[in-house]
Amino acid sequence: MVIHIGLVGLGKIAQDQHVPVLRDSPDFELVAIASRNQSLEGCAHFQTIEQLLASDDAPAAIALCQPPQVRFDAARQALEAGKHVFLEKPPGATLSEVEALKRIARDNGVTLFASWHSRYASGVEAARLWLQDRTIRRVEIEWKEDVRHWHPGQAWIWEAGGMGVFDPGINALSVATRILPDFYLQQGTLSFPANRAAPIAADLDFVTVDGAPIRAEFDWRQTGPQTWDVRVETDSGKLVLSKGGSELMIDGAAQTLPPEAEYHGLYDRFAALVQAGESDVDLSPLRHVADAYLRGQRREVEAFED
Ligand code: NAP
Repeated sequence: MVIHIGLVGLGKIAQDQHVPVLRDSPDFELVAIASRNQSLEGCAHFQTIEQLLASDDAPAAIALCQPPQVRFDAARQALEAGKHVFLEKPPGATLSEVEALKRIARDNGVTLFASWHSRYASGVEAARLWLQDRTIRRVEIEWKEDVRHWHPGQAWIWEAGGMGVFDPGINALSVATRILPDFYLQQGTLSFPANRAAPIAADLDFVTVDGAPIRAEFDWRQTGPQTWDVRVETDSGKLVLSKGGSELMIDGAAQTLPPEAEYHGLYDRFAALVQAGESDVDLSPLRHVADAYLRGQRREVEAFED
């Protein structure tokens, strides 16, 4: 049965991915939008989620694509109205609010899905399978991009709860937590521009529970070629997951992968969860970000101007 779905927050990711993927989906029909600024042809339009949920034909599912700071209230209202909820990443601005959402979803008998799109990049599952029987020796994660190119004019990303460079960095952490054994932070440095409430860079030293070091460098000041790489040395070979997980090399040999379909994968998963009456809320990537704020040193760097 096709699931009617409404989308809240018609910003960059909603337009780039959610709308086209939903229009192509055999499982969902996009029927409504809640947006303060825009409407979408063929969909009922509401200014707010309250209005959308109160409408006669309110859809059975809601995808929330706003910034994390404003997602909790919308998610709570949707779950309490008996709707299945898809959360864009990161699932919230704090761990506790997402824990609360898990309980609210359970109490209302609906699905809550905390999506991590990078886990659906084409090389990630193959990397996980290759690594699962090997002993990790060391890991390097480099996630370096140009914030001016990827996040022009996004004020929320620099505000408290916007997470700064962890907005992309959490994608690396979502991959790392999927393909590596448990790890935790030993030390870190978060670089905050003098005029901003969120970091522009983070250097993090994690270690696996078995003692293998994981060095992660996130930086938003990279111009020229962009880097989204995870390199893993094991007791029997080396793996490089690059371009955000869409390319995989094992011992220098490029692996043949399925075509890129991150958001198709996410919506397939959401449909399966709804049909099974289950939720999927893995907080481990967000927990590592919280740990970085808890355990990392803070240093001030040059002011950042758009
Ligand atoms: P964006 O372009 O700034 O869009 C966010 C949208 O949320 C706005 O256009 C706005 O839509 C709505 N909104 C509601 N309350 C808001 C508020 N107080 N401040 C700002 N916007 C508000 O952001 P985005 O890049 O789409 O990112 C949204 C979420 O998706 C983030 O959690 C991000 O990490 C995640 N994400 C982004 C990307 C990407 O490539 N950009 C990729 C994957 C995931 P209306 O004007 O329609 O109300």
